Amino acid sequence: MTMTDDQRDEATPAGLDEVRARIRAAEEEAGREPGSVTLVAVSKTFEAPDIRPVLQAGQRVFGENRVQEAMGKWPELREEFPDIELQLIGPLQTNKAKEAVTLFDVISSVDREKLAGSLAKEIEKQGRAPRLRVQVNIGEEPQKAGIPPAETEEFVRRCREEHGLEIEGLMCIPPFDEAPAPFFALLAKLADRLDLPVRSMGMSGDFEIAVAHGATEVRVGSAIFGGRPPLKSD
Ligand SMILES: *Cc1c(COP(=O)(O)O)cnc(C)c1O
Repeated sequence: MTMTDDQRDEATPAGLDEVRARIRAAEEEAGREPGSVTLVAVSKTFEAPDIRPVLQAGQRVFGENRVQEAMGKWPELREEFPDIELQLIGPLQTNKAKEAVTLFDVISSVDREKLAGSLAKEIEKQGRAPRLRVQVNIGEEPQKAGIPPAETEEFVRRCREEHGLEIEGLMCIPPFDEAPAPFFALLAKLADRLDLPVRSMGMSGDFEIAVAHGATEVRVGSAIFGGRPPLKSD
């Protein structure tokens, strides 16, 4: 849910205001419908007092990297703001599938068969089905999670047919030290070919480029919340 401009709190955090304006400009530049790109505010490492003003400013979609960390802050925030959408955008261990299915509305990091199996089992057991995206290792980097681009089609098919999972989109993190545009273009092409509506791509440093290449969601952390100490898992 997005608020109109005059519903908005006057004290909208500066970072959020600026990111919203930049997304709007990038949509316009790309000839895309205003509001067609969803902003996912990445709140990892930040606590409730930092997150609350962003909620009060009308932001409703948030991304977290770690199940444990998210469990520590979001149940309470969700009581105050019941209409939020919480996304898991970091790696998920199969032994946390249960908690992830309970807490998250979206899991954007489905990246291996074993995890698909565990999620299917939990979804069945809990009768609660987060929306799912497959993470693609778009730069084929050995240290990065995700399905290689050439195997994505087969993996999505297996998720559907072997595990009965509905996959709504793809997510990627391009190589850190290369121009991201070709990687965004490749993810969009893969999603097109598979008829998947959601493309989650683009972060603080490159979200405008992602919008130009067809992102339907951008995941922005530091440009909204400010810098954060480096994470061990990054
Ligand atoms: C941390 C993170 C982001 C946001 O990164 P920023 O550079 O702070 O915008 C986006 N996606 C994923 C998967 C992340 O881990």
